[in-house]
Amino acid sequence: EAKLDLVKKHIKPYPDFPSKGILFRDICPILKDPAALTAVIDLFEEHVRQMQPQVELIVGLDARGFLFGPLLAQRLGVGFVLIRKKGKLPGPTVSVAYTLEYGQAEVEMQEDAVAPGQKVLLIDDLLATGGTLWAACELLKKNKAEVLGCMVVIELKDLHGSERVESTVFSLVQY
Ligand code: 5GP
Repeated sequence: EAKLDLVKKHIKPYPDFPSKGILFRDICPILKDPAALTAVIDLFEEHVRQMQPQVELIVGLDARGFLFGPLLAQRLGVGFVLIRKKGKLPGPTVSVAYTLEYGQAEVEMQEDAVAPGQKVLLIDDLLATGGTLWAACELLKKNKAEVLGCMVVIELKDLHGSERVESTVFSLVQY
């Protein structure tokens, strides 16, 4: 499909970033091109509109989930909520710790950000090992939200992240 080709053309690989042996997939060129960014949101919207039950809230992940999430939420006419790295959000929060390749990280959201039973869709730019989306799902479960699924622009298939995430993952581009 033409839209998907446009998206793929705007993903730039960077060898050895942020460390040796890692091939980083940069999504900045997508944001720089209005047609490519529109294509991403169009493709996301197409997928979400055929989901049953309907998505009631988009939840985006720190930091690149914040670039796509609000645009999609506006299209759908639903709200957007942030999951942040620990220590950034005011008021009562809930957090979940998870392991990274080296060390630990913690994600956090505001306690009143989702209503119990609210049907949410998680969004991020890229799925690698799945640790981040796994933690986000746990966080939403703690807050009694119903996670309908996760959506990313890019999925790195070799890392089997979708097996770690305890939810359905939809991706536009796979490597
Ligand atoms: P995971 O937790 O699935 O191992 O890593 C996914 C997280 O790391 C996402 O939040 C994503 O933004 C970031 N990430 C890891 N590798 C890449 C990459 O190659 N490109 C981009 N754009 N983000 C990455």
